[in-house]
Amino acid sequence: DLTHGRILYLEDVHVSFDGFKAINGLSLDIAPGELRCIIGPNGAGKTTMMDIITGKTKPDSGQVFFGSTIDLLRHNEPEIAQLGIGRKFQKPTVFERLSVFENLELALKTHKGVAASMFFKLNGTQRDRLSEVLHTIHLEDSVNAQAGNLSHGQKQWLEIGMLLMQDPKLLLLDEPVAGMTDFETERTAELFLTLKGKHSLMVVEHDMSFINTISDIVTVLCDGSVLAQGTLAQVQADERVIEVYLGR
Ligand code: ADP
Repeated sequence: DLTHGRILYLEDVHVSFDGFKAINGLSLDIAPGELRCIIGPNGAGKTTMMDIITGKTKPDSGQVFFGSTIDLLRHNEPEIAQLGIGRKFQKPTVFERLSVFENLELALKTHKGVAASMFFKLNGTQRDRLSEVLHTIHLEDSVNAQAGNLSHGQKQWLEIGMLLMQDPKLLLLDEPVAGMTDFETERTAELFLTLKGKHSLMVVEHDMSFINTISDIVTVLCDGSVLAQGTLAQVQADERVIEVYLGR
């Protein structure tokens, strides 16, 4: 069993766009409860890798497993979301005219399916979950605030909260602290450390001080495969990593 003890497992994945190898022999695995940071220069293949995991892009070859039994290449994008892989893009996409509460409620409804949502009312467990999520994302005091009036950072947290309402096993986050103030970045680091252990996280980031606060292992992607992997200090000292960041 190759995938034993891993929540996510990619083996020798290849993707070409019109003959250009965007992903070229990518192998990677993530342990349950791990928070993995992904770095790499522009064009390294970070976005394409996330697209593969979420089913948006199907690779030409290779294996992609979720847990030990689920072959993600056999599932489409909505199925993969239902299986418990949540993705957050860089730009927050909250419903600006709804309240914080309504956004979180809606996230749960849509996960249950549109047909179910018409007569949907939160049960006790779901209400507890919503309160817990509100606490986790530091928005307890803004529960009735209109989402459009939140700060940029608060919108990002709300969107993470919307994903958490669906209780994902794996969260993929694209540059979560881009555009945040220092204070918001610190709070986001706290939030991620709270999530670690309960969920597995894959975080694409450029902010090295943020990465330093949250990460265990950092994976450096370059030219569609893993160039280096280790603690942030280890990869930052790696000649090949220095070369791709400074030498191009
Ligand atoms: P990153 O997110 O690390 O910046 P990407 O995954 O966006 O890298 O892109 C990897 C490479 O693949 C880039 O050279 C990009 O131009 C190319 N690429 C990505 N998506 C497509 C596409 N749909 N068609 C053609 N080329 C693409």
